[in-house]
Amino acid sequence: MTVKYQILARQYRPQTFNEVISQKSIVTTIKNAISQNKVASAYMFSGSRGTGKTTLARLFAKALNCKSPINQEPCNKCSSCLEISSSRSLDVIEIDGASNRGIDDIRQINDTIGYAPANRYKIYIIDEVHMLTKEAFNALLKTLEEPPNNIKFFFATTEANKVLPTILSRCQRFELKRISHEDIINKLRQISNDLNRDIEDAALHIIANFSEGSLRDAESLLDQMFCFKEGKILLDHINESIGFVSKDYFFKLDEAIKNVDINFAFYFIDNIYKAGKDLSYLIEELIEHFRNILVVKLKDSSLLETFDEEKKKYENSASYYSEEMLFYILDLLIKNIQNNHKSIHKKINLEMLLLNIIKSKKRISIDILVKRLIDLENKANTSTNENIPNKETSPIEPKKQVEVNKKEEIQLSSITQNKNIEESIKEEKKIKLEKIEFSLSEKNKKTDSPISISPIQTINVARHDTIMKFMQVELNAIIKKG
Ligand SMILES: [Zn+2]
Repeated sequence: MTVKYQILARQYRPQTFNEVISQKSIVTTIKNAISQNKVASAYMFSGSRGTGKTTLARLFAKALNCKSPINQEPCNKCSSCLEISSSRSLDVIEIDGASNRGIDDIRQINDTIGYAPANRYKIYIIDEVHMLTKEAFNALLKTLEEPPNNIKFFFATTEANKVLPTILSRCQRFELKRISHEDIINKLRQISNDLNRDIEDAALHIIANFSEGSLRDAESLLDQMFCFKEGKILLDHINESIGFVSKDYFFKLDEAIKNVDINFAFYFIDNIYKAGKDLSYLIEELIEHFRNILVVKLKDSSLLETFDEEKKKYENSASYYSEEMLFYILDLLIKNIQNNHKSIHKKINLEMLLLNIIKSKKRISIDILVKRLIDLENKANTSTNENIPNKETSPIEPKKQVEVNKKEEIQLSSITQNKNIEESIKEEKKIKLEKIEFSLSEKNKKTDSPISISPIQTINVARHDTIMKFMQVELNAIIKKG
């Protein structure tokens, strides 16, 4: 005898309200409506895919028609319950709004409404109700306006905004939440235990992440993994099966950014490319990675939906970045999603993007630029107010001045990156010249000449003007980009 295989999502579909996860308040409302005999004639279950809309509608139908319900729960033993469970009930009619969307389909419903149900109620469950045509909606509306007492309508939709307001206003609405990460993991673990299958914690977490709050998606993926591999399911098996990039690559990327290791961009993309991974969704995976680091940076790692070992890795990575740098990288990635999907040269496109990310460590932040501008302005004011140099009023000690000049050289060379080459060369020459003049002035200092104007101050003013000019250009560019 062959045993008919049932997919996990179906095999483990809740048979009672108590088994429904993440939708407690809706379950309570439904049970109260039944016990207080206040069941409305139409309900709208809306929410994203795999959150249990039709499951709840079916349970509701079962509970209403059950011959011996226990605390508003269906017994799952009576003829009505068994018929509904096996989709043989003549009282509970399920219609897929996506494939029966025309006016004729709705007319058929209207035609059958007159026939009395075998049990208490005749219940129409219309899935994806937003797909109905306008004419079909209008035909449905007529029935909804004055429904017979023994008729109930349960609608399910992923896009309630596309349902006519006149229909919505005649329904009690239930907004289903996405299933929480924890609930999905618990359910998957329960299924795995039940089937005597062993699965690594990290693997369960990645399945839960991938399914984005859809229990059905999570169960389908688990199903796929059980078919893909015998024995214990590991994180690597999932990465291999779905084509995910191993997270180790992303943590290595953090190291590369920390060390400004440009070569890693080519190594990273090349490895992923050769492993046959899908480059289309790499940016989304990168966004997820940097978003997690930002969460750790702004809040703490307990908010991450992952296992402890990985949380530690994120904490470590977070120490490499400033908040601003993370915002910059995320912004860059988000702006490139569209480009990457359209690009026929995904590999090159991604390499360039990664190069920019790795180089972002050297980027001067706007806060630092503004601070430097203010510092320089103050310094210039102090210098130009003095005509005669004096040891007591000299704004900066010579030793400190050397340090300041060194810093300015570093920032100046960074700023000049954005200028055209010709100007950069001119500036470089100027800096070198100033450097020489500065060392000369240091020598002059020793030959004590209080009346002559110090060359340091002449240089200061000249350098300041140059830096101010570049700062303005840099600031304008950043402001425009922002
Ligand atoms: Zn029953």
